[in-house]
Amino acid sequence: MQDNVNELARDLLTHVRSLRDAGILSVARSKSSFDGDFSDPSRGDGNADGAATAPARISASARTREDSAAQLSAIERELVGCELCRLSRGRQQIVFGTGNPDARILFVGEGPGKDEDESGKPFVGPAGQLLTDIIEKGMKIPRDEVYICNVVKCRPPGNRNPEEDEVASCRPFLQQQMQAVAPEVVIALGKFAAQTILGTTVPITRLRGNWQDYDGIPVMPTFHPAHLLRNPALKRDVWTDIQKVMRHLGMPGV
Ligand code: SF4
Repeated sequence: MQDNVNELARDLLTHVRSLRDAGILSVARSKSSFDGDFSDPSRGDGNADGAATAPARISASARTREDSAAQLSAIERELVGCELCRLSRGRQQIVFGTGNPDARILFVGEGPGKDEDESGKPFVGPAGQLLTDIIEKGMKIPRDEVYICNVVKCRPPGNRNPEEDEVASCRPFLQQQMQAVAPEVVIALGKFAAQTILGTTVPITRLRGNWQDYDGIPVMPTFHPAHLLRNPALKRDVWTDIQKVMRHLGMPGV
């Protein structure tokens, strides 16, 4: 009996070491399911306090993270005082992007709203809270382990949609950000992000849920969180799309 216990303990130790060597520092406790509300702390598939479980493996290497961070800083410096389009006139500040420079997942939204313009950070209003719930309560990874940015970096007046020439002016900066982060997956949130990244006019209703490609990076278009706030029934579709991403990345919980 004692021999069996010792053998089991040795096998377990070997397995834990192999996981650690592969960069896997934690394992989710249970499979996730979806009940239509990312923010419902009563869901039975998370930690008791609803906090995110640490990811299986998010960053490839410390060196790559430093390189990516340096590239992102260079792009951000290039943007200081940018007046390439008329959106510069109404902004309080440029909202560049936040998160892990070496993230496996890059979320791209449309543009800053009032809260983002004031804080300088993307997705901090109600739609931002829903995105945080998708990441932390749905995907069970901390929000700061992904990278989040927008197509346009300055707030369109009155939260109107960005216009074609404004998107065209800001698009090169988004492309540079995507190259710097070099994620394994881009999740395009809504029509503007999906159409800008993919260079298409195909409606988001046809793009969503279907893998696309940007320069060799798999792109998953899905609905924008602000659209989900107006149409909560679509959360189920978004969760289906997010699960495809999780399966692609071999993340636990699907
Ligand atoms: S939206 Fe982009 S291109 Fe236009 S002013 Fe702001 S940073 Fe420059």
